[in-house]
This record gives sequence, structure tokens and C-alpha cells, in this order.
Amino acid sequence: MRDVTAVSLGDNTIYLVTLDGARVLIDTGPDFRGADALLEEALRGRLPDLVIATHGHLDHAGLGAWWQARGVPVAMHRLDWPLATGKEPSGEEFAALERFVQDCGAPADVALEARAGVEARRRWSAEARGGDYRPAGRDRRWPTGLRYVPFTPAKGLEDAMVPGLELLHLPGHTPGNAVAWVPSEGWLFSGDQLLPGLTPTPALQGHHGAGGPDWRLRSLPLFIDGLQRIRGLAPARCFPGHGEPFGDVTAAVDANLAQAEQRAERALDILRAAGPRTVYELAEALYPRAVRRRFWQIVATVQGVLDLLEARGQAVSDGVRWEVAQAASAARS
Ligand SMILES: [Zn+2]
Repeated sequence: MRDVTAVSLGDNTIYLVTLDGARVLIDTGPDFRGADALLEEALRGRLPDLVIATHGHLDHAGLGAWWQARGVPVAMHRLDWPLATGKEPSGEEFAALERFVQDCGAPADVALEARAGVEARRRWSAEARGGDYRPAGRDRRWPTGLRYVPFTPAKGLEDAMVPGLELLHLPGHTPGNAVAWVPSEGWLFSGDQLLPGLTPTPALQGHHGAGGPDWRLRSLPLFIDGLQRIRGLAPARCFPGHGEPFGDVTAAVDANLAQAEQRAERALDILRAAGPRTVYELAEALYPRAVRRRFWQIVATVQGVLDLLEARGQAVSDGVRWEVAQAASAARS
């Protein structure tokens, strides 16, 4: 018999999936104080055969070390292993984020605050690896701050053979992001690739090992490809990494795709009307009220849209300013 049990852990939902002959847990769960007790209670002593982490973020893979200490192997795409082992985000990546702030065209006071934000992230990242539970953040989404005890996953995705379950590498949210797919039932375990009621925006991030001017993963074009791939599967039901499972998966995918298209159109309209713009100037034109308060979120969104336009040959950059590509402006006139 095949079935799914959802386990709610703080802001995350993880799933115990019973397939013919195997019990698989999708995502390790986040490591806040008391999460292990909640898990033990939900599983009632029956351990899964395998845990699959959809990606290496700490709220999806934070209990990896805990599972493996119990003899349950954790599988994760190898491109996200540096996040699990604690090698990433690296000092170079934080330095690249600081250079990004310098080059994005933000005014001095905004840049100063954004650089303080990078510093805070560097500190949180180190503290999470240190293994102490910190007080919960301002949003109080978890009972305590999250830990991320470093571990080396036992398997890459290609070695995680489970009959009836397919693991699809859909990079974008992270370099090694994956979803799990049960074709016989039409079940999609989407991690952070598809969430109910909101469009996840990939953050500014490196792709592992790459430094220099090309340090950044072009997340959004890949993320969009991932959504198209899911659309092709036509899932009957989606089990997301946050929130409740939902049906009408194609409608949710289409809403995400439509939002990305709208943003791309608006950005292109502004570049056409106003001429070359820095990332920050474009962010200010698109989100005048929010960009100062939510610098990293807004700038990541706008950079993603620019990456998408660039991938489609509609916008080009000289490294500082972005403008409409010749071909795209000729097509318009
Ligand atoms: Zn994530």
C-alpha cells in the first residue's frame, strides 16, 4: 500500500512516504530544540529506510547529522553537499555578496545597511554550524533558532534507488535542488520549488566552486525551467516543503510562471522607457516603497528577472547597467 503522512515541524512540512517495500522520508526536518522529540512521536519508533533532502538549506537538511547518527542514510544531490558539510556559503561567497552591494548602484546608506546584513548572515551561518540553539529570530517561525550540524550525506541522488520514486534534479532554488515524484500516484514532493499561495524567489547565491565575476548562479531561468518540467508531469497532488498539500498543481505552476512573465515585462518596459539602469535603480522603479526595507529580497527578485531577460536575449549588461538588447528593441519597433 502506498501512503503519505505529513509531519509538521515548525514552519516546515516533511513527509513519510510508504511505497512498495520502502519507507522514505522527504526532507530531514529543521533542527530546532524539541524537533527530534516531535519526530520520534510522529514516527512511533518506525524509522524510514532513507531520508531524501530536497536541497541543502538548513530548514530542509538541518537534521541530516541526526538521522545518520541513527543509521538512516540521507541522500542529497551532490551539488548541495557543500551546504551540508559546512564548506558553503564560503568566505568568498560572502565577499562576492559584498562586492554585489558595492556594484549594484545602491545609495551609500542603503549599501551600508545591506553590508551589515551580509555580516549578520555570515555570523548566523557560523553559529548554526556551531551546534548551539539560539533564541528564535524576530519572525518566531520556529520555537528556537535553527542549528545545522555539518554532515556528509551518505548518497547522491543517483545512488538513492527507491522503486516507484523518481528524483528529479531541478536546479535554481539551489544548485542541487531536487523534487521527488511518484508517477503511479501523481504525487509531487516539491520542497521549495512549488509552495501554496506564494512565489518563492531564489536568493542571490553562488554556484559551488565558481569564484570571480561569474560567481553567481543564474537562479531564476533555471527555476522557471524546473516549473516547466513539473508542468509537463501534470501532478495530481503537490506535497510542499512548507504548508499544506494541495491539488490543482498545474494552476499553481501557471500562477508562478505568469508572475515571472509579468515581472519580466514590467522590467523590460522600464528599461525601454528610461534607458540603461543599475539593478538598484530598476528595483527602485519597480518596488519604490519596499526596496529600502527589504533590500536583499527585492534585489534578488530584480536580479532574477534580469537574468531571465538576459537568457532570452532581451537585455544586456555592461557589468554595471542593464539595457534592452538590440534585437529586443528592434523587434518592438
Ligand atoms: Zn530552501
